[in-house]
Amino acid sequence: MSWTSLFATAVALTTTWEVESKNLNPTKVDLGGGLSMLLVRAVRTVSGNYRARMNLCCYDTCYWNFGVEAEYNSNGKYSDIFWPPRSVFPPCDSTIQKKIKKSSIDKKRLREIKRSYLTNLGLKRKDVKRVSQKVELVLREINGIIEPVVFADVIYENAHQAVRFVAQFAALTGELVFVHDKLLLEKVQESQESLDSDNSDSEDRDDRSDSNENIKGSETVCAIGSGGNPLTGYISYGSGTNDTCLPVAANRNKCSLYLDGVGQVRSGRGHPRGCLDSPPISFPCDVGLYDAVNEAPSVGLDAMRGIYLARDVLRELNIEVPASCQVDVCVNFGNHLQNSMWTGKSILVGDGREGRSYPFSTPDCMCHEFAHCLTDSWSGLLMNGQAGGINDAFSDAFSQVCKLNIGGPSWTVGETNFYDGSGSTPIRYFEDPTLDGYSIDNAANYTEDLDSHLSCGVYNKFFFCLSVDKGWDL
Ligand SMILES: [Zn+2]
Repeated sequence: MSWTSLFATAVALTTTWEVESKNLNPTKVDLGGGLSMLLVRAVRTVSGNYRARMNLCCYDTCYWNFGVEAEYNSNGKYSDIFWPPRSVFPPCDSTIQKKIKKSSIDKKRLREIKRSYLTNLGLKRKDVKRVSQKVELVLREINGIIEPVVFADVIYENAHQAVRFVAQFAALTGELVFVHDKLLLEKVQESQESLDSDNSDSEDRDDRSDSNENIKGSETVCAIGSGGNPLTGYISYGSGTNDTCLPVAANRNKCSLYLDGVGQVRSGRGHPRGCLDSPPISFPCDVGLYDAVNEAPSVGLDAMRGIYLARDVLRELNIEVPASCQVDVCVNFGNHLQNSMWTGKSILVGDGREGRSYPFSTPDCMCHEFAHCLTDSWSGLLMNGQAGGINDAFSDAFSQVCKLNIGGPSWTVGETNFYDGSGSTPIRYFEDPTLDGYSIDNAANYTEDLDSHLSCGVYNKFFFCLSVDKGWDL
């Protein structure tokens, strides 16, 4: 089995599908007795059929995390369905129907929960901007009884922090079911600049501006500039030796790290609210971009290259990039942040810290974060618990596949970022995940409080073993 087909298998195992539902019919399959399945998303397969994810629903309100897979033929007719035996379906009866009728999304309660969450993190609402919000009514079991609950997934951001708030509360009683509290992406490291206080309580719009109006319709050119760091080696983009073309938008002689349908790269430096109010990085096309920080000549170009590396993998596998993964990247995020992260909306990239790490715009970081976007779009796996471990392992595996196009997998993560006096110091290891002193390599050692970047060792090792196994050549 080739490397790419192995990876395609991994994609098929861990993902469901991009929204491509316009040709699909039916979008709802009635199962009788109030039960139905509603189409969530679908993607065309190599055979020309559609694989779809459908949610099991009761009186049109869907159960939390109860998806089944279906297959449609090219005429949009449902041809096969892969679902668990009916005996494991959750109940759907008139009691539940009555509860659904009585339920609504209690915005006041939602606001209260969001605020107390921010308060627990030492944040005030006026210190952060809301960049996205998804709220829906779902059904889930609480103490053996099916209850309607409000599910909320909200992202807040300022120049130094990004917070992804994920919570559920019972729709009828307001009782909190869970709040994910491990998604604070960076604690304030230095004094925080105060934000414009124009973000009153109006919770109806996303604050991230779309500043691409003036570069739409431009031509496309290869960006010129330097990239890389001492551990990746240096790269010459657009000219000279090791020529690498990064297509970007050009308007006369002004180049912007933006391309319609691909994404954009902004810089958080020099803007009071970081990337929240910065346009895509721009520079004179004929001069190129040289914007050195922490021994990296241009993190913006490297970030753009990371997007292209990730997209190349999908192109080679004949998989369409989900529309939601036209990514917004923010480089120079935070202060000496030694990390990169997917917020559910953007990829945030830290500059690293001199003497310890280089900027996190390296291929493995960018591909890892890009893969989180794919996972969000395809399967919607959560980012905590065992789901989080699988989620992060998929991102790690994807980053190794990205690196196939630039020299091959390293079977370590972060080896081009972290270093000490004796050289490169990876943070994760595929062959023996336990080498970092924290990760597990066996599901038997899983505990609920284990971070997903440590529990991912189980799947990372599995992926490594499968990839190097005899007959499963890379
Ligand atoms: Zn991750």
